[in-house]
Amino acid sequence: MATPFDEPSTLPYALPPFREVRLEHYRPAFDAGMAEQRAEVEAIAASDETPTFENTLVALERSGQLLARVSHVFFTLSSADSTPELHDLEAEVSPLLAAHRDAITLDSRLYDRIATVRSTLDERTDGAALSDEDRRLVERTYTEMTLAGAGLDDAGKERLTAINQELSTLTTTFERNLLEDTNDLAVHVTAEDELAGLDDGAKSAAAGAAADRGLDGWLITLPLYTGHPWLASLTNRDLRERIMRASLSRGRRGNEHDNREVLLRIVRLRAERAELLGFPNHAAVVTADETAKTPEAVDGLLSSLVPAAAANADDERAVRSRVVGFDVEAWDWAFATEILRGEQFAADSSALRPYFEADRVLHDGVFHAAAELYGLSFTERDDLHGYNDEVRVFEVTSEDGEPVGLYLLDLYTRDGKRGGAWMNPVVEQSALFGTLPVVVNNLNVAKPAAGSPTLLIQDEVETLFHEFGHALHGLIARTTYPRFSGTNVERDFVEFPSQVNEMWVSWPSVLANYAKHHETGEPLPPELVLGLSDSAGFNEGFSTTEYLAAALLDQAWHRLSAADAAAVTSVEDFERSALEAAGIAVQAVPPRYSSTYFAHTFSGGYDAGYYGYIWSEVLDADTVEWFRDNGGLSRSAGARFASRLLGVGGAKDPLEAYRDFRGRDAEVGPLLRRRGLE
Ligand SMILES: [Zn+2]
Repeated sequence: MATPFDEPSTLPYALPPFREVRLEHYRPAFDAGMAEQRAEVEAIAASDETPTFENTLVALERSGQLLARVSHVFFTLSSADSTPELHDLEAEVSPLLAAHRDAITLDSRLYDRIATVRSTLDERTDGAALSDEDRRLVERTYTEMTLAGAGLDDAGKERLTAINQELSTLTTTFERNLLEDTNDLAVHVTAEDELAGLDDGAKSAAAGAAADRGLDGWLITLPLYTGHPWLASLTNRDLRERIMRASLSRGRRGNEHDNREVLLRIVRLRAERAELLGFPNHAAVVTADETAKTPEAVDGLLSSLVPAAAANADDERAVRSRVVGFDVEAWDWAFATEILRGEQFAADSSALRPYFEADRVLHDGVFHAAAELYGLSFTERDDLHGYNDEVRVFEVTSEDGEPVGLYLLDLYTRDGKRGGAWMNPVVEQSALFGTLPVVVNNLNVAKPAAGSPTLLIQDEVETLFHEFGHALHGLIARTTYPRFSGTNVERDFVEFPSQVNEMWVSWPSVLANYAKHHETGEPLPPELVLGLSDSAGFNEGFSTTEYLAAALLDQAWHRLSAADAAAVTSVEDFERSALEAAGIAVQAVPPRYSSTYFAHTFSGGYDAGYYGYIWSEVLDADTVEWFRDNGGLSRSAGARFASRLLGVGGAKDPLEAYRDFRGRDAEVGPLLRRRGLE
């Protein structure tokens, strides 16, 4: 069967022909793509030529193009625009893909050839000298294959493959249970007075969500994390409690979407696999391939932050309880915080919304900052299409008018889109293939009623800048090999560029440019500007604590030996004792994610890696200080960051790239100051 994936796309920037893709195209394309790559890899592994960099490493990089084309499209849709049929297909192909990858990664002949190239790097006879990126390709490929088990004997490999396949199915199940339980748990409201405090935009979004499901009244859909953006404004305490209890109960209600047994099985298999590879636990395997290198280094940073964060959160709770006149519970926290914010900064966050019209934030904020820093221009291309009519396509060009890539933006929540916000590449920049990047940003902004403007809350503005930071990492990439392109860096480094980009949200010249009243065009009043910039540090005890609790939970699950993992039978008991042992069980501050809906760690590829956000925030805070000292929003500062850091991607050791950019290693002081932890 011919499919739109058979040949590279002929659309500009090799944008996939989304409109030609049908459900029935995927499976044949996956099958053909896997068969093609198997044949390509077999030719490398079985070759009787002396192994060289070209005939082994570069040949391996060149393999699997058809599979890459179909995978990029399929997984973009299965995250952002899924259907039950697509979910079924994902469950069907995920174990096949895992087995396919394992067959390559665990091929002893291939591993031996790479080891030979690696050991003869300095006495090469096959032509031109290798670049630093070439050498890193050898080293990284070798390390990844070693950690994946390429050095195991046949029995070990057989067990490993079985584990990987089962894990692939389990993580898909976890993700699907979570999506369905989250949909089911949306809170239905039929009496309008219960929604007191909610602004008209939010109300119409809730009415729209209800109508979409054929319901009367209003439907409050849940985001991925424990809280909810509307908890800050809803005055009805019972409704707030209902929303948070719904959120907390996800994946642990004893129904068909229960994730407890699923995650226990995931934890046990990961621990078993670690021992097979000669490591004490899964976290040790994961960090060996990160900039952190060991779980002890991770624990060193996290636990050094816990006492001050927990103490600050306790103090904040006391202050908030005083403000509202009763003991603040988890569902009251955001509400009390808003009142306090209003008292301290003469503004609550709903006063900001009319100044955050989405399109203006995008063009006059996000794109404006990228123009000032990196000389990029963005032109909407209505002639190009994404995978859904709500996806917008922008062509990105440099200040010389040279093509840079495509930026796709998918802003709104819809059924079938997973929670949270993210960036993913659809085409990776690579000099090897001569490709320019195509990247997608997804957010979950509630869609306003037809004819109403999309007004963002401050948190969503920050998320847009954050995700766009990932997009910039992908767009500015200038590497030879796609495996090093843009965000293809160590997981505990990948959040660094995106976090840096958040600094422009409240940068005075950027804020003044985008924050204008959507009806009158008036600039943000000075007292609101003050509230926005002074609010850095505000509520940080809570934010740091809910984050650290989740990060420590993730570490706790993945620092279990196989024997200890087998002995855990209750998810709830384990969570409670892990949080208490870490000193982070703070009253009214639940973890940002609890285990049964912790997609990052059980299905999202952040297993034993959720610590990476604060690990890379050390670099972020240190970099923000550098920008402040070096001209701020300027083309020269941007050029240095782009050439020495963003463009390098994973082609260099990230901490070396950082040193090259900053002139020294990162220091933790700026992070402690920012989060009030000194
Ligand atoms: Zn991110």
